[in-house]
Amino acid sequence: MNENDSERMMAILKHLNYKTTKNLHEADMVILNTCSIRNRAEQKVYSALGRLKKLKTDKPELIIGVGGCVAQQEGERLLKRVPHLDIVFGTHNIHCLPDLMKKVKVERNRVAVTEFVDSIEEESFAYAYAEDYSGSQSQRVKAFVAAMRGCDNFCSYCIVPYVRGREMSRKSADILQEVNRLAESNIKEVTLVGQNVNSYGNKEEDISFTGLLKAVCRVNGIERVRFMTSHPKDMSEELIELFGEEDKLCRHIHLPVQSGSNIILEKMKRGYTREDYLNKACKLKRLYPEIGITSDIIVGFPGETEAQFLETMSLIQEVEFDNIFSFKYSPRPETEAAAFDDHIPEPIKEERLDILQKMQRDITLRKNQKMVGQIVDILIEGKSKTAKGASHTANNQLMGRTSCNKAVNISGDDAYVGKIVPVRIEKASVNSLLGFIVKNREERIHVCC
Ligand code: SF4
Repeated sequence: MNENDSERMMAILKHLNYKTTKNLHEADMVILNTCSIRNRAEQKVYSALGRLKKLKTDKPELIIGVGGCVAQQEGERLLKRVPHLDIVFGTHNIHCLPDLMKKVKVERNRVAVTEFVDSIEEESFAYAYAEDYSGSQSQRVKAFVAAMRGCDNFCSYCIVPYVRGREMSRKSADILQEVNRLAESNIKEVTLVGQNVNSYGNKEEDISFTGLLKAVCRVNGIERVRFMTSHPKDMSEELIELFGEEDKLCRHIHLPVQSGSNIILEKMKRGYTREDYLNKACKLKRLYPEIGITSDIIVGFPGETEAQFLETMSLIQEVEFDNIFSFKYSPRPETEAAAFDDHIPEPIKEERLDILQKMQRDITLRKNQKMVGQIVDILIEGKSKTAKGASHTANNQLMGRTSCNKAVNISGDDAYVGKIVPVRIEKASVNSLLGFIVKNREERIHVCC
């Protein structure tokens, strides 16, 4: 969601004649798009703002802005706390950027706006700009498309409903128009994003989420479709079946479980049990053995006992996730769990996180190693990280992804970017796979190194 929001910001600024730079010292304006999902992410914003102080002193006309969840949460307080900050705009106020810029540049005001809008259509022109931005990126292969935003679930640990507001879905017609324009500008893969995509359209009486996915799969030129994030309690049978019906729908699902203990899941207010989750995950694996399943886990939730932590470990072993995003619980303002009186000491959280991450690394490596020798289709996205690091020996390294969302590095020239090619996997590590392009799934293409 944040990447999609950043694109909308960049698109609006492009229409105000700004362009992006990788050199901070060249910038006339710096915007930090922020996340407050964990305390650490929030603290990083203040550190980054601290580092920008000298830049502002050296260049007083520099405009510094903060958008996103920390901006929404702190509002005016941020302006008071950071005197060299000019603009604060909340999660629903990206479309206000032109006005805010005017206030700062022409009227020389410092300004904060954090009002929630009543309907997502009020921001529609900002979404339209995002299409322009995506289309202007040379060699860009994939794009995020916002399907909905906000959340009504109020999990007891989560700040999202407070900083992103209630669930609102975009009209399916607007989403399809955006996807069509992305296809015209050569985007091959779209990911429909939202905090809880499974409840897409529930309030708006639009098509269902599976209906939307089917319609996006019909768009000519789009070759792959992904979505995130799914809530396990809302993932329908219809959605599970859709993986078997739509070839363009990638065989990957991000399905956050958070804990393997029913007592903790209840305290988290997740709305499903360990058994419900396992049923859905096992069904997906049984129907689609090649599917990649990833998840989010929180360790050290208030009151989590050693036995409950071990239940999470056993669930991870049972599902054998392809990867997980795992974090120590951190209390967030306004949330129910922050007021619980049985917080777990930091050293215990750290120890549990270490143990859990080590086990997951072993599972990921084992699953990646099983792919060695297989031929899989990958969509080439561009240069690999190594090649971007300017090592001339590796600058013909490209990176692509399998349908199940594993990163694969291959040798090849830029002509492959944006193409889906069959690749034989040669080597596997925890973070990526290494392979080479084969022709017709049989014959190896010679690629100069
Ligand atoms: S469903 Fe996700 S976004 Fe919504 S409150 Fe729960 S954790 Fe937060």
